[in-house]
Amino acid sequence: MRQIGRRIADTLSLRVLLFVLLGFAVVAVPAYFAFNWVVSSTVIQLGTLFAEKQVLYDRHRGLQALLREVSLAETLAGSQAIRDWALDEEDETLRRRGIAELEHYRQSFVDHSYFFVIDRSGNYYYNDAGNAYAGDQLRYAVSPQNPRDKWYFATRALGEGCHLNVDNDANLRVTKVWMNCVIREGRNVLGILGTGIDLSAFIQEVVNIPQAGITSMFVDRQGQVQAHRDENLVDLASLSAEMSDKRSVYSLVDAPEDKAVLQRLMDEVAAGGALAKSAFVNIGGKQTLVGVGYLDKLGWFNVTLMDLDAIIERGLFVPIGLLLLAVMVLVAVLLMLVFKRTVLDRVSALEGVVRSARQGDYGPAMGMGTGQQDEIGRLAASFTEMAAAVDDNTRLLEARVRERTRELEELAFRDGQTGILNRRGFMAAHAEATQSDGYGLLVVDIDRFKSINDRYGHAAGDLVVLEVARRISAAIGNRDSCARWGGDEFIVLLPGATPEQLRAAATRVMSAMDQQPIALGQAGSITASVSVGACLADARDSLDVATDMADTALYMAKAQGRNMVVVFDAELMVPPHSAKA
Ligand code: GH3
Ligand code: MG
Repeated sequence: MRQIGRRIADTLSLRVLLFVLLGFAVVAVPAYFAFNWVVSSTVIQLGTLFAEKQVLYDRHRGLQALLREVSLAETLAGSQAIRDWALDEEDETLRRRGIAELEHYRQSFVDHSYFFVIDRSGNYYYNDAGNAYAGDQLRYAVSPQNPRDKWYFATRALGEGCHLNVDNDANLRVTKVWMNCVIREGRNVLGILGTGIDLSAFIQEVVNIPQAGITSMFVDRQGQVQAHRDENLVDLASLSAEMSDKRSVYSLVDAPEDKAVLQRLMDEVAAGGALAKSAFVNIGGKQTLVGVGYLDKLGWFNVTLMDLDAIIERGLFVPIGLLLLAVMVLVAVLLMLVFKRTVLDRVSALEGVVRSARQGDYGPAMGMGTGQQDEIGRLAASFTEMAAAVDDNTRLLEARVRERTRELEELAFRDGQTGILNRRGFMAAHAEATQSDGYGLLVVDIDRFKSINDRYGHAAGDLVVLEVARRISAAIGNRDSCARWGGDEFIVLLPGATPEQLRAAATRVMSAMDQQPIALGQAGSITASVSVGACLADARDSLDVATDMADTALYMAKAQGRNMVVVFDAELMVPPHSAKA
């Protein structure tokens, strides 16, 4: 766990990934709630619209059928033939004209039936769709004493105009609406005529809507349910209610405040403020949208209950939700990729370059070139510059060290006065050149040098040493080396020399001195000579052994008069070291 924490702290990409995920969560949670809220409010708005349109449609269909019949009945009631007949019922001509007018309208009524009561006599004329009473239209006379005729006297009291009388039989599911139009002349009522219309089919069609989640019913002004698909629902919902409450729409809703809401809706549509209204109420513990319309001619309300969850499938919104989620994920991934490409990859490349620079390889740093000119680009460019500077400096330093080393080697291996090898330089050359082969060795000493110093001064002596060194160098071969052995003594190494070559080289060195005098500047010039002791040595012989032999020969040359070459001969001479041994 701790390791994971440290890894996250050490790795920028992990930290960024974590931040992106965190940001994703911070956005996703409110987005989820916002999405749900949008879905809910969309469902509510769509549902409300749907409910109100449904109510309007039902109301329109219900009223349209009625209005046509009412206006037909009104026209018939205003007919002059009817009025004339009502005033003089016994007149045969008027009677025939009146009956003809009624029969004519009968064809137009939906029900194909009519009734006409002449007030003065109370005679009730009637014919039906089957024309069963042709020529026998006078059926009976209404009487205030007959309870069946109560409707007539009640309507007569309402005054002029057409009055609708709903005759609803819930048990038979038959709903008949009677249009009763009062005919008056002045204050006198001449009679009442009209027709009926059977609304059962229409009402059944409305309340039997097959769509799941929708319940439609017709309710009268008192809230009594007049037509409902499932009568039991009304009864079950109000088992404990009073008898009068049993078929009331109010028994459907649970809480008193919901009853008030329903009452308010009905009042509003009845007042004509709006044709349809809707609101949410609790029915059976469930939020239900209730839409209410008012069929003013009937005095009925059509009430539609909608369970929105059953009507509008919330699953419809799932693809939109998934799309949103996918878009968010895509954005997060793209952000990560962009960040990885523009920052992380370049930083880790830079990190690699820095690492190899630290190990001394500046190649990658130089190769970074000039990329994008943003912060990382500038950092890389600065690093390239710095690497170039460091690289230049390193080369410079290395060159200086080489130079210095060479100078130090010069100091260590060369003689400062003459520029030829010194004793140490000669030993190194000897060790290198004599590993496998034999060699020749010359020891050269200036003759009577002390007296040159004495006569011409020390500076002149120095010039002689210098010139002798130069002439020895010129007299020997490329593969040979010469060195200052000390004071006025020089030594020459002749790798792989044969006895002839040894003698020839020694003679060349000796003759190089007396060919030309050595110029001493203002002091004039002198001729110097050297004595040479020579020897041949094996690869196995050490330098000490070889120099002993050459020294012995030199000693002989000095002893025999100087300015000559003596080659060491083991038969004749014994080197001092081996003599001791
Ligand atoms: P010999 O023929 O026997 O060699 O006689 P020599 O006079 O040369 O005697 P020796 O070799 O013993 O003396 C060398 C002298 O050379 C001793 C020293 O004072 C002198 N000397 C050595 N090195 C230098 C030098 O670099 N410059 C000068 N001016 N004199 C030197
Ligand atoms: Mg000497």
